[in-house]
Amino acid sequence: MNATPDLPSSPRSPSAPAELAALSARLGADRGSVQGGGGNTSYKSGDDFWVKASGTWLAHAETQDIFVHLPLSGVRAAMAEPDPEAALLALAPTGGARPSIETSLHALMPQAVVLHVHSVNTIAYAVRADAETALAARLEGSNWAWVPYRRPGLPLTDAIRDALANARGTPDILILGNHGLVVAGNDYTSAEARLREVETRLALPARAPSPPDLARLVAVNDAGWTIADDPSLHAIGTDATTRAIALRGALYPDHVVFLGERAFALPDATEADSPASLRAALNLVAARGAPEPAYVIVEGAGVLLSPSLSPGACAMLGCLADVGLRLDGRESLRYLTLEDVAALMGWEAEAYRRARDATAPDPAASDSPPVPV
Ligand SMILES: [Zn+2]
Repeated sequence: MNATPDLPSSPRSPSAPAELAALSARLGADRGSVQGGGGNTSYKSGDDFWVKASGTWLAHAETQDIFVHLPLSGVRAAMAEPDPEAALLALAPTGGARPSIETSLHALMPQAVVLHVHSVNTIAYAVRADAETALAARLEGSNWAWVPYRRPGLPLTDAIRDALANARGTPDILILGNHGLVVAGNDYTSAEARLREVETRLALPARAPSPPDLARLVAVNDAGWTIADDPSLHAIGTDATTRAIALRGALYPDHVVFLGERAFALPDATEADSPASLRAALNLVAARGAPEPAYVIVEGAGVLLSPSLSPGACAMLGCLADVGLRLDGRESLRYLTLEDVAALMGWEAEAYRRARDATAPDPAASDSPPVPV
């Protein structure tokens, strides 16, 4: 489809196919698949290649132009350059949107349609130390491959290249360790059907968390923070397994990028020497020279959200709750290492995406808390 068929000399890029936008919007509307600006999709036909732009949301695919059009041959050539990330960025239209940090992943896959999602069911498997074995049982008969954790961007693409080279045939399902899911197909229908099939096979029951203790949240909230009105977020405070995960570290990249590596908790009121209120806790954090947290866990009661928490970051909290409620606390989990976290925090492309997300128009940003998510 060409947006300007009667103006062949126009510099405008051809619009993304409507089917790609529709499928992307469906995925983006499902919090079990995509949270905030996470996940990305692409379509290739001949040398035409559309991939999600950095900082955009799949959920907005039918109301905004979220795709960047690039020459597929140029992208693949850029991936062989000494500085592939710079070469890829140089292909993007001047002054326009930047292609997703995972563009090289999409270009590498041979299939026409590539869907990358942060499926909570997949993540709940992909963070386990025994993920490969557990997944083999669930995905038996599928054409799938395991990809060990690498930083999103070219390191991840290199790991996928290795996985494809070692696989029998051409896998159309990739499980990314500590990250998520890639599903590919030669058309939209087969790719979406394959994704639904994986979701069905990996579906895990989620515990129902205790309801938040709103009275306690109000009582300790002397700093004007937000009490989330999505009850599912409070599972991070009320569900012991989810709380323990949040306090121990980060399990996947978007958690680090949007929420920082670890949560801060206001302990149970019965503990001696614990800060008695949110203000006291924040003063303690500041005294340590640590950055202000994105959210604070109030043990047994729920979570308080920083007033500066973006809708995208709020969506990532929902992902943490949804993943935590699918783990039973007995699994051996692989957390991102300090090196993994540092690489994510210092990576310019991710910082760009976060900045875009933080400054995106926010329909929820109003004078009246709480912030809907
Ligand atoms: Zn991803």
